[in-house]
Amino acid sequence: MEAGAEFAGAWPLSGLPRLGESLRESGGEVGFRLAFARDLEGRGTLRGEIAARLVLTCQRCLGALTWDVKAPLELALISGLDEARLLPEELDPLLVSEASIRVLDLIEDELLLALPQIAMHEPGECVPPGPEVIAEGGEPVATGAPNPFAILGALARGGKG
Ligand SMILES: [Zn+2]
Repeated sequence: MEAGAEFAGAWPLSGLPRLGESLRESGGEVGFRLAFARDLEGRGTLRGEIAARLVLTCQRCLGALTWDVKAPLELALISGLDEARLLPEELDPLLVSEASIRVLDLIEDELLLALPQIAMHEPGECVPPGPEVIAEGGEPVATGAPNPFAILGALARGGKG
């Protein structure tokens, strides 16, 4: 690879099984853009960024929650595992011999790290589904719609000054 070489692409989220367990919908893809360079110590590095729009399940309203991820990816190409120990912390080791397989693994790792501990809409944006809502179709309705009760809350606060 030449210094300055760049490669970009996208990979379907459905092809990332570990991430898939956390997703509500497996459609969409993760985009990546990486540039090859040599650092001051002569190491080959791949640096760039990944971006994906994930659809998670809100743990409060059980509706769909869109989660945008944009994360840096900084990899060092190494030819042996002992080299990994010498890397600065911000660089993830990537064995040259298995680079093409492992890159996806590392991208998946980054996406997993970017997941919220508990997926949830912003406070006030949703409420737990009431029994009558669930009864209608087994699925909570009005996901993503403004919470009608938020207006009541605002009015109540305004009334108290
Ligand atoms: Zn919610």
